[in-house]
Amino acid sequence: MPNWKSNLIDGYRLATWPLRKLRLRQMQRAGQVPIAILFYHRVDDEYPNGWTITEAGFETQIEWFEKNFDLVDLEECQRRISSGFNDRPTLSITFDDGYADNCAFALPMLLQRKIPVTYFVTTYHTTRGEPFPHDVEKGAPLAPNSIESLAALSRAGVEIGAHTRTHADLGAMPNSPQLIDEVLGATRDLESLIDQKIRYFAFPFGLHANLNPAVFRLLKDFGFKGVCSAYGGLNYIGDDAFHLHRLHGDPCFSRMKNWLTFDPRLQSTKRFDYETQPEVSAADTGKPSGRVNQPSEPVAH
Ligand SMILES: [Zn+2]
Repeated sequence: MPNWKSNLIDGYRLATWPLRKLRLRQMQRAGQVPIAILFYHRVDDEYPNGWTITEAGFETQIEWFEKNFDLVDLEECQRRISSGFNDRPTLSITFDDGYADNCAFALPMLLQRKIPVTYFVTTYHTTRGEPFPHDVEKGAPLAPNSIESLAALSRAGVEIGAHTRTHADLGAMPNSPQLIDEVLGATRDLESLIDQKIRYFAFPFGLHANLNPAVFRLLKDFGFKGVCSAYGGLNYIGDDAFHLHRLHGDPCFSRMKNWLTFDPRLQSTKRFDYETQPEVSAADTGKPSGRVNQPSEPVAH
């Protein structure tokens, strides 16, 4: 992002700072401080792109989070959402896809600082060592994590989560053996490969058009603790804690600070209500998966 643009965002945040501070105090008094969950993809200095943050950039963000938030795991987020009262700025960190580069700096740093992290991986890429098509297209076939490294991360305390078998867009997929395999088959395989229970699932791409009510119901029936989307928005106290809303772990620190200090525009994020959404029918299979409602301009993979 050009400097003038991040200066503009900083200026907007500072100009609205007294209002934001007042709003935070009001939310604290009422026990209604919403919870932020971030999704990153890759931390590395090579092959920068919209879903990669530099090591220095990531460390700067983590240091700011440590000063300003309780850094907790997804289970604690859910406990605070369900309890009906939260007076502390709270944040949780997740990663999607499973890039091997994250083992060089980001994950050891988080473990060393005892910061909880949930790490969502696709089983096809991690078991075969095949790069993601969106990286191959860009001429950067980046290595995914190996199963051995995921098992080691799990033993070290990282919560490994499921992210389908093939990074499939589930939004237009009817309830079918293919959908069940992408969601449950991949999860069961991952559990046996890393010898650990998988409790959370993140939708690939994660925007409204990529979500599927049948998957929410399936995961609930099969005892999952929670499901993550990636279209932005905060988690409000007293809401359904099964569906966890996430914000993009934006490489632009100005934009990140702006959202996380309760930019009022976040409140207008349209929520996906899986309870009232109709099931996807076979006739919907060809529907385009558009990008809608992305207040934090997420790069959702
Ligand atoms: Zn993904």
